[in-house]
Amino acid sequence: MIYFDNVSKTYPDGTMALDGVTFAIKEGEFVSIVGHSGAGKTTLTKLLLGEEQATNGTVSIDSIDIKKIKKKDMPELRRRIGIIFQDFRLLPNKTAYENVAFAMEVAGKPDTDIASDVPHVLELVDLTKKMWNFPRQLSGGELQRVAIARAIINHPDVIVADEPTGNLDPVNTYEIIQILKKINDLGTTVILTTHNKGVVESLGKRVITMDHGRVTRDDPTGKYAL
Ligand code: ADP
Repeated sequence: MIYFDNVSKTYPDGTMALDGVTFAIKEGEFVSIVGHSGAGKTTLTKLLLGEEQATNGTVSIDSIDIKKIKKKDMPELRRRIGIIFQDFRLLPNKTAYENVAFAMEVAGKPDTDIASDVPHVLELVDLTKKMWNFPRQLSGGELQRVAIARAIINHPDVIVADEPTGNLDPVNTYEIIQILKKINDLGTTVILTTHNKGVVESLGKRVITMDHGRVTRDDPTGKYAL
C-alpha cells in the first residue's frame, strides 16, 4: 500500500507544492490524479520515487517510510516503481529491444533472462514487429509502448505514468490507456496523472483531484471535476 499521511512539500524557494495531502492507494488499484498545471501532481510522483523529500508528513510504501530508506537501498525502491513520462525518455542510440534490455542489464539480470523476457514484454505492448527499430523510426504511440515495456520489464509493484498521453493523438491515447488497463488487470498498481477528461471518464476508476497542493476530491468512480 502507498500512503501519503498529511504530506506537505515546500521547495527551497518557498513554493508550497503540497499542503497536507492524505490518501492511501491499495495494491492493484488504478488511480488517476488530475489537476491543473502547478497543482502538485509531479511533486507527488517525485516524493514517491524518493527524488524529493516531504517537508512534513510521511510517504510510505508497504509501511516503509521512504524518507528513511538509505541511499544504498534506493535502487531497490526504484525497481519496485516503474515510471513512464510524457516525453518517453528512451535512449536514442538503442533499438526498442535494447532500450528494454538495458533496464534489465542495469538491474543485474542474467543474459538468458533478458533474451527470454524482452521479446515477451514487447509482444505484450504489440511491438514485436518493430523491436529492432530505433526511437527515430517509431511513432509517438510506439515510443510510449516501448517506454511502458521498459517500465514493466523488472516486474514493479507500481507503475507511475506521468501524463503519458500528453503528446499523443486520440487513437494512440486510447491504445496506451488500454495497455495500462491490461497491466493493471495483471495485478500491477497504476497511478496515472493526466489532464485528459475523456481518459478519466472512460476508465471509470478512482480519481484524486488536486488543486493548489491539496486534494479537493477523491472519487471512487471516475468523475472529472475541474
Ligand atoms: P503539476 O505536476 O501538477 O503541474 P508540480 O508538482 O510540478 O505540479 O508543481 C507544483 C508547484 O511547485 C508549482 O507551483 C511549481 O511551480 C512548484 N515547483 C515544482 N518544482 C519546483 C522546484 N524544484 N522548485 C520550486 N518550485 C517548484
